[in-house]
Amino acid sequence: MNLAVAETGPAPIDTARDVLRRTFGHAEFRGLQAEVIAEVLAGRNALAVLPTGGGKSLCYQIPSLIRPGLGLVVSPLIALMTDQVAALVQSGVAAARLDSNIEPEAKAETWRRIEAGELDILYVSPEGLMQPWMLERLSRTPLALIAIDEAHCVSQWGHDFRPDYRMLGRLADLFPHVPRLAVTATADAKTREDIRAELRLMDSAEFVASFARPELILSAERKKGGAEKRVVELVTARPDRSGVVYAGSRDKTEKIAEALRAAGVPALAYHAGLDKRLRETRLEDFLAADAAVMVATIAFGMGVDKPDVRFVIHADPPGSIEAYWQEIGRAGRDGDPAEGITLYGAADMSWALRRIADREMDEAVKQVQVRKVRQLYTLLDGAGCRAATVRRYFGEEGVEACGQCDLCLGAVETTDATQAAQKALSAAHRLGGRCGRGRLVDHLLGKTKDVRPEEQALSTWGIGQELSASQWRDLTEQLLFDGLLREDPNDGRPLVGLGDAEAVRAVFRGERRVAMRKHPEGADHDPTTRSGRPRKRTREAMAVLSPGDQPLFEALRAWRTAEAKTQHVPPYVIFHDRTLAEIALLKPASRAALAAVNGVGEAKLAHYGEGVLGIVGGFT
Ligand code: ADP
Ligand code: ZN
Repeated sequence: MNLAVAETGPAPIDTARDVLRRTFGHAEFRGLQAEVIAEVLAGRNALAVLPTGGGKSLCYQIPSLIRPGLGLVVSPLIALMTDQVAALVQSGVAAARLDSNIEPEAKAETWRRIEAGELDILYVSPEGLMQPWMLERLSRTPLALIAIDEAHCVSQWGHDFRPDYRMLGRLADLFPHVPRLAVTATADAKTREDIRAELRLMDSAEFVASFARPELILSAERKKGGAEKRVVELVTARPDRSGVVYAGSRDKTEKIAEALRAAGVPALAYHAGLDKRLRETRLEDFLAADAAVMVATIAFGMGVDKPDVRFVIHADPPGSIEAYWQEIGRAGRDGDPAEGITLYGAADMSWALRRIADREMDEAVKQVQVRKVRQLYTLLDGAGCRAATVRRYFGEEGVEACGQCDLCLGAVETTDATQAAQKALSAAHRLGGRCGRGRLVDHLLGKTKDVRPEEQALSTWGIGQELSASQWRDLTEQLLFDGLLREDPNDGRPLVGLGDAEAVRAVFRGERRVAMRKHPEGADHDPTTRSGRPRKRTREAMAVLSPGDQPLFEALRAWRTAEAKTQHVPPYVIFHDRTLAEIALLKPASRAALAAVNGVGEAKLAHYGEGVLGIVGGFT
């Protein structure tokens, strides 16, 4: 269905808008989509950085349909390709993929369609594409464009470096007249520079969208004891939603999934240690479910395009702000409100810093990584708007507070604790870095069990009666985050000592104040469940459906589930929740009215129009 652009026809971007409406059922371009598409339609190379959910795929799919020839899309993950091809086919686009999982007959048929000029879009893996026979065969095929998805994989400064991606630089010489478009959701300035150099895009236009994700409601809280119990609380407070819980180890994913199942939540564990088949079925189950929770290590992620993930919970903190944004970014891809909740602690920070110190690598690279860890914890434990902090980190200017994260809503109040901090620091100094946090607190309170006379004789023994044990624990945690105390992991029995000497001296001289978090009574206040705020917001998300429209919405979902089962595709490639909600609200009575709903293009109207109108008819 290549729509050749006639010399005197409409402006290319108008043709593109027409395809957007007729094929994909969307009314208008979002963000930078129109700019990126115009650049590619003009036959030029480009680099586009659009946040997750920003609609990157249309940037290459639409030009593939408009420009003559086959649109070639390089994608790192089979799961990602499968999903995108399924969604395209639903929209009536002639799309296919070639990867190691495809049967020989299907492969032959795909090649037949390519050579007959019947295919619009082909998805390939980088290693698949760069095989000599493949390149040779493609060199005889007219190409509309080459898109390189997840382009940050080419950079060592990104966090998903894939050596295979480096070979893609050769495409510049192999296909000099085909426009190449690199797209990614995470790339700071350094990574972008790397992408341009490696993929030979030095002179091409760069489109960097805002990193704003207004649908994401962020919060973070310090761990109190085990994260498992807290995760169960958070998840059970969000019933009937899909979510992802990230945990730091394989073992922990299994334990948390088990605890969730015991609490009645359909939860599955996912990590690299599981058998490949099992991993695949779990991923399929998760994608197909209307509400399911995946408890995973970060092995689970790239290529998970489920649009209706309503929360991402970090049971253990991510590795950097890039990873934070990418992982949390998997929630709310359909643009409806979703939550990102992070549990973190000073021990996690010490552990991350220790791992960097122990690694064998260049001192300069180490320093970059240490800075990344510090910046992450400044974000997590800081007091300024979380969304704004992330956006500034990615280089955005003129960023305003989001007004909806826990910090914007004032969940954290601080009080001056400089004097108490001086006491804690002196005590740590006197104890000479030979004890852990618990002992330090007991010492301040004068409650150490079996205390030795030498310790009792220290001037800091029992000088901390003004605070409770839990307040001292909070303050110790704070001092660790501030770098005033430092924790030596000591093989799992961490010891506390003084941190940065200059900073510690400044506190003693009173030049540096220490602010401590004031927790509302009942120390375990919960900004998310207690106020009920995000829960309400997530409900609002279902397109202000009145209770009266709910049964129709449910009926449409049931119909979609049945359709998805028969066709063996995830439900959301048929229609997103958002589209079904809009249908339930508008109750279209004719095909024309249904076509006006966002997400209903021509092919879907043809396939599902009758079915959907029938269901709506039964409710009006
Ligand atoms: P990503 O940038 O994360 O790859 P996708 O291309 O998967 O994002 O798009 C995310 C979602 O946004 C998809 O469900 C897509 O249908 C939808 N979308 C993309 N562009 C538009 C648009 N212009 N209007 C409405 N919805 C859009
Ligand atoms: Zn905020």
